[in-house]
Parts: sequence; C-alpha cells; structure tokens
Amino acid sequence: QAKQLGGNLMQAFVNEMARDYQQQVRLRNALQIALDKKDFQVFYQPIFNTETRAITGVESLVRWQLNGEFISPAEFIEIAENTGQIIPLGEQVLDLVLSDIKRHQELQQIKVTVNVSAQQLQRYDFPRFLAGRLDHYQVAASNVTLELTEGVFAGETASTITALQRLRDMGCNVAIDDFGTGFSSLSYLNRLPADIIKIDRVFTHGIADDPELFAVVQKIIELCKQLNKRVVVEGIEDEVQLQIFEQLGVERVQGFFFARPMPIEQLLKLLVK
Ligand code: C2E
Ligand code: MG
Ligand code: MG
Ligand code: MG
Repeated sequence: QAKQLGGNLMQAFVNEMARDYQQQVRLRNALQIALDKKDFQVFYQPIFNTETRAITGVESLVRWQLNGEFISPAEFIEIAENTGQIIPLGEQVLDLVLSDIKRHQELQQIKVTVNVSAQQLQRYDFPRFLAGRLDHYQVAASNVTLELTEGVFAGETASTITALQRLRDMGCNVAIDDFGTGFSSLSYLNRLPADIIKIDRVFTHGIADDPELFAVVQKIIELCKQLNKRVVVEGIEDEVQLQIFEQLGVERVQGFFFARPMPIEQLLKLLVK
C-alpha cells in the first residue's frame, strides 16, 4: 500500500516536472516568435517626489501579450535569462524606450529607468552597445537610469563594477534594484558604483507592523544618506506606508498607491498636468 502510494506520488511529481518543463519550452518558443516579430511593449510607472508630489522619473517595464493575455515578466524574464534570449529582448526594450524618449519631449525632462539583467552586462560590452543606441536616437545619457539587481554582483564582480563605472562615466545613473533581497551586505554598499538604491517592496509591505523591520530599513536609509546614495522606495500601496517613509526622510517613492505601470499615451496625460 505504502509502496503504491509512494509510486503514485513519484509519478505525480514526474508528471508535474514534465508539465513544468513543457510549459517552459512552450514559453521559450513563443518568446522566440515574439522576438522575431518584435511583439513587445513597454509600460511606464511613475516615480514621485514625496515633498512636491511631482513625477521625477518613470520606470520602464516590458509587457508581452500572448493570445490576448499579459504574461508576467517575473515569469518570462527568467526563461529569457536561461536561454540567452534576454540579450535580444533587452535590446528591443531599450529601442522601444529610447524611441519613446526621442519622440516625446515630456520624457526628456525626467529620468527614465531601464531594467538590465546581469547577463547583459556579463555577456558583452553593454556600455558600448548602449552608447551606440543613445547616439542613434540622440538621447542624452543623463536621461537614462539603469536598474540592476544585486544579482549582478554574484558573478564576475570586478568586470561588473568596471562596466557600471563606465555607464556612470558616460553620464547614466545606476540604481540597485530590489535592494535587500539579494545577497545584500551593508559592507559593500559603499563600494557599489551606484547612485540610487531602490528598497524592495517586501520592506515596504512589512514596515507598518514589524518594528524590527522598521529599524533595519531606518538604518539602511541612514546609511544611504551618509554614502550619498539616493533612496527610492518601491511598492508603496497605502497612505500609512507613505507616511512612514516620509518620516524617514525618503524623497522618492513608487507604487500602486500613486500609479500603476501604464502605456505611454496614459503617461503623457499625467506628465502634462
Ligand atoms: P522590478 O524592476 O522591481 O519592477 C517593479 C515591479 O513591481 C513591477 O512588476 C511593478 O509592476 C511592480 N509594482 C510596482 N508598484 C507596486 C506595488 O505597489 N505593489 C506591488 N505588489 N507591485 C508593484 P512587473 O512589471 O511585473 O515586473 C516584474 C519584474 O520583472 C521587474 O521587477 C524586473 O525585475 C523584471 N522586468 C520587468 N521589465 C523588465 C525589462 O525590461 N528588462 C528586465 N531585464 N527585467 C524586467
Ligand atoms: Mg526595476
Ligand atoms: Mg524592483
Ligand atoms: Mg523585482
């Protein structure tokens, strides 16, 4: 009986793995078709100044529709990273963003951030590639902020740091995304060639009812100030969270409480207000 049960469980596990694998293969193939057709869009989520409530920047976020449904980037970015498709995907996203900036003067007045995967830095000369695209679209490097997660420091650290430094020398800003969720160590914060630290939304989510988490976040923010790094808090969903971060002296916030990611047309309406 037990053996039978174990066998069934094993079979269920194998079936599940096979389904998972098939799903991955399906997505990978669909992704390739989408890449060939350049079938991606970019949405923008505003970043606000807490004091003036003005929009100081926007984060670009890739969107992919498959059979009329949006697939979460959380799902397909990982696949694209595993297959190497992240390189052409990243290039298509960059082109979409830069052509939006070129076309819309409103975007030239604010910072536009682009998420960049570790592989884009490690697989080839990304700073040089970016410089070429900026030149092609006649967009100023100072218009663009690159967001990288702490994961970039897992691999070839020295060459990554050099690449980030070159991006900054070009005039781009560099932001560390999802700060606090990777293999963060406060001891390397001062050595990161980054202008901006984006505090991950898990901290935002828990801060109101977890005094210890509050203490940790408070210290991180203090430290960032001392090191001259600008702080952006991600994932603000309500007034209480906003007030807490305002009291902590945070100047930049982003989250559903203010605005969700939106198509460019909708963003432009917000920007002229
Ligand atoms: P991320 O860079 O940390 O982007 C923020 C994510 O949090 C976005 O999810 C955004 O929609 C979501 N978000 C913003 N405010 C709130 C909030 O108040 N509450 C909650 N629950 N969520 C909020 P999205 O667009 O699904 O993207 C997920 C992740 O996929 C991104 O996290 C980023 O790591 C990756 N990603 C998205 N676009 C790109 C891209 O063009 N290139 C690369 N390499 N990665 C991308
Ligand atoms: Mg980001
Ligand atoms: Mg983030
Ligand atoms: Mg993230």
